[in-house]
Amino acid sequence: MAAEAVNTVPGINSEWPSLEAFRSAAQAGAKAEGFAFSTRDSNLKDYRGKHKFLTLQCTKGRHWFNSHGLKEEARKRRRLTKREGCPVALRVVEQKRGNDFVWVVNQYIATHNHQLLFPTQIHSLPQHRSLNSDHVTLYRKMTLSGSSTCSIATAINLSGGLCLPKDVRNLRARLRVALNVSYLLQSISRVICCH
Ligand SMILES: [Zn+2]
Repeated sequence: MAAEAVNTVPGINSEWPSLEAFRSAAQAGAKAEGFAFSTRDSNLKDYRGKHKFLTLQCTKGRHWFNSHGLKEEARKRRRLTKREGCPVALRVVEQKRGNDFVWVVNQYIATHNHQLLFPTQIHSLPQHRSLNSDHVTLYRKMTLSGSSTCSIATAINLSGGLCLPKDVRNLRARLRVALNVSYLLQSISRVICCH
């Protein structure tokens, strides 16, 4: 029996043909370990001739930043932050290989300062929930037939997706915005055509 491929976070000196391949491998490795990556820092536009790089961090990285000078005693709402100053970081730089460029991992700080999630909890991280075009089609059909948000989320989960009711609500909001924008563009083009 063939051994199942185990997802791991890309190691030091591993090479990736594209940033997308690196990102998806990193996220798959993080998922297997019980956390998720977000972008910490990047230079992807050859800024000032510097090497292109991307640094990912654990979503619990860095601390909550008080950008409004708000004092704890003046807060009206409970502080809800997922940031715990976790040091985990994964850095990749672009390097030339012959006529091509590859992305090479040159730093991985791998030790978290918090507990990792169990596989049954991993869907609590939005980075590990996703809706593909089949799920969006299912959403549209079920919305037209008047299904509730919860039953749409259940149907998507049964069809191999991973989502929460709030993802369905977010999708509804996104599609509504897209619909409004296309209506607006149509209206503008009609006005322009009439003149
Ligand atoms: Zn962490």
